[in-house]
Amino acid sequence: MLSPEIIQTAPKILLHDHLDGGLRPSTIVQLAKDSEIKSLPTYNANELGDWMTATADRKDLELYLEAFAHTLSVMQNQDAIYRVAAECAEDLADDGIIYAEVRFAPELHLANRLSVPQVIESVLAGFQSGSEGRGIIVNALICAIRSNSRSKEMMEFALQFRSKGVVGFDIAGPEIGYPPSDHLEAFHLAMESDFPVTIHAGEVGGAIYIQEAVEECGASRIGHGLGLQYEIPSNEDAGLGESKLVSLFLDDQIALELCPTSNLHIGAVDSFAEHPISRFLELGLCATINTDNRLMSNTCLTKELQICTETFGWDISTVYTLMRNALSSSFIPTDLKEDLNSVLSDWYLTPSRVHGNT
Ligand SMILES: [Zn+2]
Repeated sequence: MLSPEIIQTAPKILLHDHLDGGLRPSTIVQLAKDSEIKSLPTYNANELGDWMTATADRKDLELYLEAFAHTLSVMQNQDAIYRVAAECAEDLADDGIIYAEVRFAPELHLANRLSVPQVIESVLAGFQSGSEGRGIIVNALICAIRSNSRSKEMMEFALQFRSKGVVGFDIAGPEIGYPPSDHLEAFHLAMESDFPVTIHAGEVGGAIYIQEAVEECGASRIGHGLGLQYEIPSNEDAGLGESKLVSLFLDDQIALELCPTSNLHIGAVDSFAEHPISRFLELGLCATINTDNRLMSNTCLTKELQICTETFGWDISTVYTLMRNALSSSFIPTDLKEDLNSVLSDWYLTPSRVHGNT
């Protein structure tokens, strides 16, 4: 069995993590006091952390999203956003992550008249500062909110910052009733600009949302994609060829950004044992493991890996596969991928490190 210490020490790649879902409870309390925000459910940091997890864990995506009103309430000025982004990079580095793509929706940070470029600049500066000297690179993904109608505008801003640390685009928020195809203009602009896209799809919605995301909207990664499991015949002998969608995921190695604890909290799966991540890996799908919202799920990548290792009996080679899947589907240039791939192979293929002897 892999110890938590080994998993934490192992170099890791994280592709799906929300900036407004990963604040330190103590920071929320401090920022709320600084801005004289009176609406937090409690001003005790420990109690606030517990409240966030209890609020998230109600087996319903829309209820899950309620906790974000409080994190977003304290992220409405540039200093606060910068601090949250810097602490995010620090916390991810402490968790042994060497490369992360962290996403946020600029349109949720405009309540106090910040401009979208001010929001993006604050996040990027925070990532830069928090990463310095910590052996981690953090890039940003810009999200548009799928229940709003600003996706094309947000894509334009993403493109404006593409050489400055924004490496991709996503849509997030409530899924049912808001299919990816509602935002085709934004996705067409991404395709014309050869700009990478990941889309939250099949988190609670069915395979049709996933199909739209890859076939119509050009997504090369899918946030969650749990709906794909229903396309896989329960009897493996029936052959995967029966589902065109699964074949497409296999052939093109479209990545699935799975987030086990978050998936459990919103009720998308009933238990860790029933989570499809292990089955997806066995079938050769490009599964990755992620945190989604570290605060709401009271988690980190080490913890997600530890839970799955205990549940599915994974060994270090499975962790290595997950990290290579994440790296190969990350939105970074080939030369950087090669550099990071060397870091992964140096560690995972050195038996003494894996067994904790060095
Ligand atoms: Zn997410």
